[in-house]
Amino acid sequence: MTLQHAFGQAVDLAAAYFLSRRFKARDGWTREQLLAHQRDAFKVIVRHAAHASPFYRTHYRGIEIADGPEPSQLPVTNKRLLMDNLEAVVTDQRLSRDMLDRHLAGATGDSLLFGEYRVVATAGTSGLRGIFVYDRAAWRTVLANTLRWQHFAGIAPRWPNRVRICSIGADNPMHVTSRIPMSGDIGLFQIRHLLATDPIEHLVSSLAEFQPDVILPYPSVAALIAREQLAGRLSISPRVVATHSELLTPEMARLIEQAWGIEAFNHYGLTEEPHVGADCTRHAGLHLFEDTAMIEVVDDEYRPVPDGTLGTRYLLTNLYNRIQPLIRYEVTDMLARAPALCACGRPFGLIAAMGGRAEDLLHLPRADGQRGEVSVTPMLVSLAVEAFLGVREYAVEHDASGIRLRLVVPDAEDRRKIGQALPARLGSDIASHGAVPPPITLEFLDGLARSTQRMGKLSVVARRRGASPQPGCPA
Ligand SMILES: [Zn+2]
Repeated sequence: MTLQHAFGQAVDLAAAYFLSRRFKARDGWTREQLLAHQRDAFKVIVRHAAHASPFYRTHYRGIEIADGPEPSQLPVTNKRLLMDNLEAVVTDQRLSRDMLDRHLAGATGDSLLFGEYRVVATAGTSGLRGIFVYDRAAWRTVLANTLRWQHFAGIAPRWPNRVRICSIGADNPMHVTSRIPMSGDIGLFQIRHLLATDPIEHLVSSLAEFQPDVILPYPSVAALIAREQLAGRLSISPRVVATHSELLTPEMARLIEQAWGIEAFNHYGLTEEPHVGADCTRHAGLHLFEDTAMIEVVDDEYRPVPDGTLGTRYLLTNLYNRIQPLIRYEVTDMLARAPALCACGRPFGLIAAMGGRAEDLLHLPRADGQRGEVSVTPMLVSLAVEAFLGVREYAVEHDASGIRLRLVVPDAEDRRKIGQALPARLGSDIASHGAVPPPITLEFLDGLARSTQRMGKLSVVARRRGASPQPGCPA
């Protein structure tokens, strides 16, 4: 890293720190103040995009932009549309697709394109790689939101015994979850980064040696570590466990609580918007960071759904990325907004429930013989599997031919019981939703391989993609 780069990084982080103090003051806003701020920020980003981005200029042709249109007046966008038109979407015409690809291929550490842009990409689970560019101002907001997340979880810098934070995730500058610690470490905390793809024995010995105050793992990794602690093979006492990047299921949360006597903090973000929401110490749901992003929970026809109801998708507007505007951008994760605000008094609305990805819904024939299908949320499968405490880890794949459960169950007697009872339990849960249960097959494995391609993340429940998934490897 050059001195110039290190200086730039320190300037960005100092600016992010001051920005985070402004963000913190917004905790005291009323809901009306917050929504007014969001409306204004929405108008500003829309006007900017319509002016500076050739794509949005065309996309919004015929719509009166100057007065600040209502969100519902603007056509939606999605990943395919924005990637197919990437060069027209970005507001700096020097950024060609070729150049972005080359930069990503050669990226090391926290390297900047033109000394200005951080370029990150999605792991490509949907089969379509997304490339997202942040200028330095936008990245300061990302870092300020990281500080806000830490503040929500009660993590504050401390001297002289600095707080020891252990993150467990990916190690690739292309991925946003690695990039934030790479650009945000100027010594406020003692930080150790471990890889989710490492063998569990290695994670256990590193954690035992480091003795973290805070761990930031994927929830599935947190559950594995919690089991090691409960089995007496690990002895650490973190104050805070804050999970991210995957769905935190009730069983994973229960294990964390059992192992360390603390309730896990959860966080939800995307490459397109690294901090969509995070929970506070009340754990009443994830607070949406509505001053930096706008979330519209909608159905298949992009109509808003009432609070408390799971949408099949949502529309994200990133309110601060001016280099690659993302406006009413379709995300197929299923969320439900809570009807009420959190008792902590913050004005930020809450996500009451997360139901996984709409693509991963199970579409099953109706049991009453009528035409059509019943859609079953993947959480139903998770809840059935997690009712069996002998299951150490699992992955589920499904397609038209049935549901395949891959289970890590160390105990032979547990395997026998689960083999008998789980298909019946899941079948009856599915039937209770009015659907015909599909064939259910079980496979017992010693462990599930974590693919480095997917940053070591595990899809707990996923629709099977492609012809033949590799055995022992999540799709
Ligand atoms: Zn709260």
